[in-house]
Amino acid sequence: MQNVDYIIVGLGIGGVSFCEQLRKHNKSFIVFDDGKNISTVVSGGVFNPVVLKRFTAAWNAQEYVDYALPFYEVLSENLKIPVLENISIFRILKNSEEQNNWTVASDKKELQHFLTSELIKNKNPSINADFGFGKVAVSGRISPSHLLRTYREQLQQEGRLISESFDHAKLQQREDHISYNTISAKRIVFAEGAGAVHNPFFPKASLVGNKGEYLIIEAQELQLKEILKGPLFVIPLGGNLYKVGATYSRNDFSLNTTVAAKDHIVAKLEQMIHCKFNIVDQIAGIRPTTKDRRPLLGVLPESPNKAFLNGFGTRGIIMAPFLSKLLYEYLEESIELPKEVDIGRFT
Ligand SMILES: Cc1cc2nc3c(=O)[nH]c(=O)nc-3n(C[C@H](O)[C@H](O)[C@H](O)COP(=O)(O)OP(=O)(O)OC[C@H]3O[C@@H](n4cnc5c(N)ncnc54)[C@H](O)[C@@H]3O)c2cc1C
Repeated sequence: MQNVDYIIVGLGIGGVSFCEQLRKHNKSFIVFDDGKNISTVVSGGVFNPVVLKRFTAAWNAQEYVDYALPFYEVLSENLKIPVLENISIFRILKNSEEQNNWTVASDKKELQHFLTSELIKNKNPSINADFGFGKVAVSGRISPSHLLRTYREQLQQEGRLISESFDHAKLQQREDHISYNTISAKRIVFAEGAGAVHNPFFPKASLVGNKGEYLIIEAQELQLKEILKGPLFVIPLGGNLYKVGATYSRNDFSLNTTVAAKDHIVAKLEQMIHCKFNIVDQIAGIRPTTKDRRPLLGVLPESPNKAFLNGFGTRGIIMAPFLSKLLYEYLEESIELPKEVDIGRFT
């Protein structure tokens, strides 16, 4: 029997963030990941604390950002790769009313650290932005596939990764621990993202799921250095490639790409830019969104050593580091979880 403190199921940004809590506190762990359902890899990786439709701060944004920025810095040092690239988001302003709303928003206490009050003129001939841009100053981008590939390699070298599906039927509840095949652990943390719909212990009614599709385009003339936000995000990937999207489709847990999403993205993109582009690829993932748009953390009353870390919705990149800390402190130091994030609200 191999004895560890934790089994973690799922290696998206949730799993990575919780592994980092365990490392920090010298806890032993094993990770299961099948790489099937991944939302993090597909995601745009945009680090964005602002709701750019309404010019408001995202829920708990300041707390998330304050924890996530140093978290990604340390992760970058440990993995010896750049993790969070400092890159601004330029929000296209549609008219003078939006210009005015941006200026007002940038003066608000909860937004003044995140938004630049000065409006930016459009100097890029390929972009349609007669009213210029509002700039999100505290923003960035991680390269999710690079991060996860590197993290997997590290876990593999440490003998901590089992690259297969976790079979929930084989999980045995013992008196004060759990066991799975030849592994015995004090606790298990399920960080399965939208894959949690297949977890018999998970309160499924809590998870809605929201499918998102991106196009990867090549556009030589675009020459965009910032992340552009209009009806969609246009995210520079380097080498004239851009990730464009994403769409939103509720309660769809399939990973196939669709013609409808492609047509939608092309139509919206043509409103934003007017240079030539080629579609190079189309990808889809499922956001683990919840009914009340709040995360799902903690344990259910009947099984205190089975914990959940889920429900990051559309903002896993800023949320996961801080929420992992909350979960760790709850499990190890009996610090209560805020009610809004406690999975117990769905029992
Ligand atoms: C199209 C799209 C664009 C997005 N863009 C952004 C963005 O720009 N910025 C942002 O902050 N957020 C974005 N998101 C949201 C973000 O991706 C999610 O909030 C976040 O990645 C969820 O992370 P997670 O670790 O909970 O889940 P996931 O990343 O899905 O990871 C869960 C992992 O668990 C594994 N797993 C599940 N069940 C099992 C099992 N039984 N056995 C073994 N392994 C299992 C899965 O295969 C997967 O690898 C986007 C999402 C989508 C779909």
